[in-house]
Amino acid sequence: MNVRRLIPTATLAGAVTLGLVALSACSSSDAATKSGGKLAVTASFYPMQFLAQEIGGDHVSVTTLTKPGVEPHDLELKPRQAAQLGEADVIVYLKGIQPAVDKAIAQSGVRNTVDATTLTTMEQHGTEAGHDHGHGEDGEHADDHADEETHAAEDEEASADGNDPHIWLDPVKFAEVAKGVGAALEKADPDHAADYQKNTTALVGKLDGLNTAFKDGLADTSTRTFITTHAAFGYLAERYGLEQEAIAGIDPEAEPSPARVKELETIAKRDKVSTVFFETLASDRTAKTLAGDSGLKTDVLDPLEGITDASKGADYIEVMRSNLEALRKALGAK
Ligand SMILES: [Zn+2]
Repeated sequence: MNVRRLIPTATLAGAVTLGLVALSACSSSDAATKSGGKLAVTASFYPMQFLAQEIGGDHVSVTTLTKPGVEPHDLELKPRQAAQLGEADVIVYLKGIQPAVDKAIAQSGVRNTVDATTLTTMEQHGTEAGHDHGHGEDGEHADDHADEETHAAEDEEASADGNDPHIWLDPVKFAEVAKGVGAALEKADPDHAADYQKNTTALVGKLDGLNTAFKDGLADTSTRTFITTHAAFGYLAERYGLEQEAIAGIDPEAEPSPARVKELETIAKRDKVSTVFFETLASDRTAKTLAGDSGLKTDVLDPLEGITDASKGADYIEVMRSNLEALRKALGAK
């Protein structure tokens, strides 16, 4: 095998620096044979899959660990999936949302792993579900203890460092992650670097457009508060100056305390909330009960943790556009 012929001259210098020219040329062609001549990329869940497919295009074959319709938080891997991880050329994941996946990736021996949380700035929103309480009346302090229980549960479910993992729901942060994923694919497969660059630029352009649509679409609304099922929209709320009030915490399976439900009813009245949002992959029971008790409407706000036929759109961009329309309607956008 002539290594020089496999690697364009422009990238040869970079590859030599790694000291692994022959090795990486051979191993990537082995992997290429396995995945039909394409770079084998494993994505941990839908938002990562979307980035890999958009940027990788025809040069990659993407496998996703979280099957469509499966709620990704705390996903457990089948032993076979964990074993297959080792065959990936590149793994794209988001550390902190799926601890079992994080562990399997660490043990997989795959050199090209991209952790999305290292590509943007992480923030903590985990305790903001009850952040706004304590306004005015002393009576509200009685609720605080019950809230602490909820928060303790949230903290367990959040990543070890307490950061909110839902960065993909902010188009600006997602664009930063996209650039990092693009750079990782270029490094893993320098032969197609130009295409990865082109695709990254196109995707970042779409995300910029989405950001502008959200900024303009939510600039003037009659309320800034929205109620969601789980606290997935902290970054989105932060970006567009909205207040997220979540029924559950960071994890959609967490049950709210009766005190939290009562508090949400108060907030809904105070902030003239019209709608309680539920989502496609998690139980909508509490959202519908709360809406029924408070005389509010319900609608879907999709955290895009997976995509199915029931999703309001075929991909991330389309579902985010549906989310924008749902938010505009719920918030009374002018
Ligand atoms: Zn989530």
